[in-house]
Amino acid sequence: MQSDTFVRPEIKDFSPYSPGLSIDEIREKYALQRVIKMASNENPLGVSPLVQKTLAKHIGGVFRYPRSGSPDLRAALARHLDVPEEWIVAGNGSDEIIDLLIRVKARPGKDHVLLFEPSFSMYRLLARLCGVEVRTIPLDEDFHFPWVRMLQSVTEETAVVFVTTPDNPTGYAPEVQELESVAGQLPPHVLLVVDEAYMDFARPMDEYTLLPRLKDMPNVVVLRTFSKLYGLAGLRLGYGVMPPWLADALIRVKPPFSVNILAEVAGTAALQDIDFTRATLDCVITGRTYLATELERMGCRVFPSQANFLLFKLGRANRNELSAQHVFQELLRRGVIIRPLKSYGLDEYLRVSIGTEEENQIFIREIEAVLHG
Ligand SMILES: *Cc1c(COP(=O)(O)O)cnc(C)c1O
Repeated sequence: MQSDTFVRPEIKDFSPYSPGLSIDEIREKYALQRVIKMASNENPLGVSPLVQKTLAKHIGGVFRYPRSGSPDLRAALARHLDVPEEWIVAGNGSDEIIDLLIRVKARPGKDHVLLFEPSFSMYRLLARLCGVEVRTIPLDEDFHFPWVRMLQSVTEETAVVFVTTPDNPTGYAPEVQELESVAGQLPPHVLLVVDEAYMDFARPMDEYTLLPRLKDMPNVVVLRTFSKLYGLAGLRLGYGVMPPWLADALIRVKPPFSVNILAEVAGTAALQDIDFTRATLDCVITGRTYLATELERMGCRVFPSQANFLLFKLGRANRNELSAQHVFQELLRRGVIIRPLKSYGLDEYLRVSIGTEEENQIFIREIEAVLHG
């Protein structure tokens, strides 16, 4: 059977999400002992000890189906965030919430979503998969958000506007007043989705997060995830905070068991392990300053970041005029995985996740050797 006539046209042309490379892959390919991964913005300290204990305790229960709607986690999140339970929808990663929002709000073949370019690729992929047109607005030269152009692009058929803050892959976060003002200016039929996957790392957070102001906003959703600060990327757990009538719609169509039993108990425990989150934040915020200082010392151009990664250009450090892709490849051979940004259309940029103190030092040593060696 010919796949190009058998499947929907959206499927035929679909290019999949391009993830960071895995440690095992690179260890095998280059026959290396030690490989460090600073490519997917994961928690440098791994998994909280309390979460590990909790997972061990619940492992014997996985023959049961989970309770639908993750009620324990929802209650824990409501307390943690100080919002009503009815506002929270937990999903199989925030990716699932993005998917549900598009499918609940946008009419295939009719509506479109608005994105900034570049932005996190899942918005585009999930909209296309759903048969919803994607319209993009290029970011300003300094990677700030062109709000006026975005507002001018809104039509009757605009279903959803996606904004990531702090942004991926740039690390930029606008002041929360900007978002508030934009939310107020969007017509009521447009849903504004503010993806705060990295908000935990912003300092001071209350100058950037929209979450505490959501109660007065009828057409805004905030997304958060357990994949970054809480170190649960592999268990898949995220959530959205939104008006209860919209949360209701999502829960009605959501696959009932998409948040598994272990993810639910792990998420609840992760919220309690204050020592671990504090250690992670210390590590990331200290490491962020260290890496930015060292890259700038070499002559790289580093973009200010409120997230757990840095976007940079080789700049003056690049005396031998190497391409960013070449530097990425050379780092791989030396056992350091970072993220080239070709898939974001930023060919000459690199993104590095903040690692442990030791990983950060190794990365700096190796990139210096690649650039000046
Ligand atoms: C990592 C990331 C997420 C998290 O996705 P999960 O599905 O929760 O793992 C969401 N949005 C952005 C912009 C991200 O970079």
